[in-house]
Amino acid sequence: MMATTHALWGLVLALPVLAVYPESAPVAFAAGFVGGLAPDLDLYTGHRKTLHYPVYASIVTAPALVLALFAPSTWTVALAVGLAAASLHAVADVFGGGLELRPWHGTSDRAVYSHYHDRWLSPRRVIRYDGAPEDLLLGGLAAVALVAVGNEAVTGVALALVAVSTVYVLLRKRLAGIAEFLVGLLPDPLLPYVPARYRGT
Ligand SMILES: [Zn+2]
Repeated sequence: MMATTHALWGLVLALPVLAVYPESAPVAFAAGFVGGLAPDLDLYTGHRKTLHYPVYASIVTAPALVLALFAPSTWTVALAVGLAAASLHAVADVFGGGLELRPWHGTSDRAVYSHYHDRWLSPRRVIRYDGAPEDLLLGGLAAVALVAVGNEAVTGVALALVAVSTVYVLLRKRLAGIAEFLVGLLPDPLLPYVPARYRGT
């Protein structure tokens, strides 16, 4: 799934805070946004393994939610939303495509690494690949909820994320070729530092 889709759903997780603790909502939205995006910071170092914890992040989220419910403060609520967004991201990636340069070919059997199971979970391909039309639809659904319920700032961020997503979806298949071309220009000593999927292996 696109990073922007994850960010949009991270923001959605903060919507209840707007209703219950509006004074904590800005920090909660920031936490949902960062938590939704953060796992993909491993894009170039063990992508969908180093920062993706589908099982452990979910386990840690449960007590954080309990803490936020029984000891609500800006920081406990933000922690719960941020962890929930990060675990939702890792779990959602299982329902996306595989870890390959052109995931629409459906050849990879790696979606997300589960540190708990000590193995790669295979892609379910409900969202066939990141940047697929259904990926945009999923992000769009989150944006509808954010625009309907959120404040002006949240609406602005949601619409900006949908705009970025739309451009990405339109260019998605061409980007794979561009990435491959750019990697082809790199001098040989740098190639070991390029993730395998960009080296056509
Ligand atoms: Zn991810």
